[in-house]
Amino acid sequence: MARRLDYKDHRRELDANRYVYAVVSRRARGLSIGVNLNPDKACNFDCPYCQVDRTTPGGPSRVNVPDLAAELEDLLRRASGDLWATPPFDTVAPELRRVADVAFAGDGEPTTPPEFSAAARAAREARDRLAPGVPLRLLTNATLLHKDRVRAALAEFDELWCKLDAGTEAYFQLVDGTRLPFRRILDNLLLVARERPIVIQSLFLALDGVGPDDAEIEAWVSRMRGITAQGGRIDHVQVYTVARAPSDPRCGPLDAARLEAIAAAARAAGLGAVVYA
Ligand code: SF4
Repeated sequence: MARRLDYKDHRRELDANRYVYAVVSRRARGLSIGVNLNPDKACNFDCPYCQVDRTTPGGPSRVNVPDLAAELEDLLRRASGDLWATPPFDTVAPELRRVADVAFAGDGEPTTPPEFSAAARAAREARDRLAPGVPLRLLTNATLLHKDRVRAALAEFDELWCKLDAGTEAYFQLVDGTRLPFRRILDNLLLVARERPIVIQSLFLALDGVGPDDAEIEAWVSRMRGITAQGGRIDHVQVYTVARAPSDPRCGPLDAARLEAIAAAARAAGLGAVVYA
């Protein structure tokens, strides 16, 4: 679930981290602390717009939860102390010098590793102790939300941000690079949205210069309408596009007007929609 963010820190101290990284996010209005449970860069999607560099090998797939917790605790402590006096964070605008969230995102689907549940619990405990009030978010492609071990761990998170990039099976396969059944994603979104409100994250892009047509957007809206009609709750929809050049040269951004039109289609169905152009 690679995350679109503005700035990635490459200081040696954080580069020494295996699991926890920090980015300054104008969207989140502050420091977003990322937790990467996929240091091996493995993902069950193969989105052509993915910004994870898989031309270089990843690390071991096993997640060492105590190490992860130690990295997170260290960064949370420093964020209320010396971090802002240390380059490059000393250049961050004063109004952004706050921890905006702790987000499970990173270089693959975070719910995949068997350590997901233990990592979520450890992150929750660290957040409660060191940064109460900072939201703990899960960014997920929703493929595994039906698994008991995953569902049980969802309670650790304050917010679930779930990917939905398409309205039809064919377009889903194209833009998310998977043969996993689209029905499973939709069923999983409904399953979870019936228990608690979810945020839908939808990335729309131009592939070989062509974006999703109106029929695709209509189908996308009708999928979300289907969720709400069956008792699911969608807090809001985030509509965005590719930020930096992905490795796949077929991918390009949609313009702001098209993103606004897509968001307007969601709003017309009674959904709150925010555009990040
Ligand atoms: S879900 Fe897609 S964008 Fe996210 S890490 Fe996997 S391949 Fe990349």
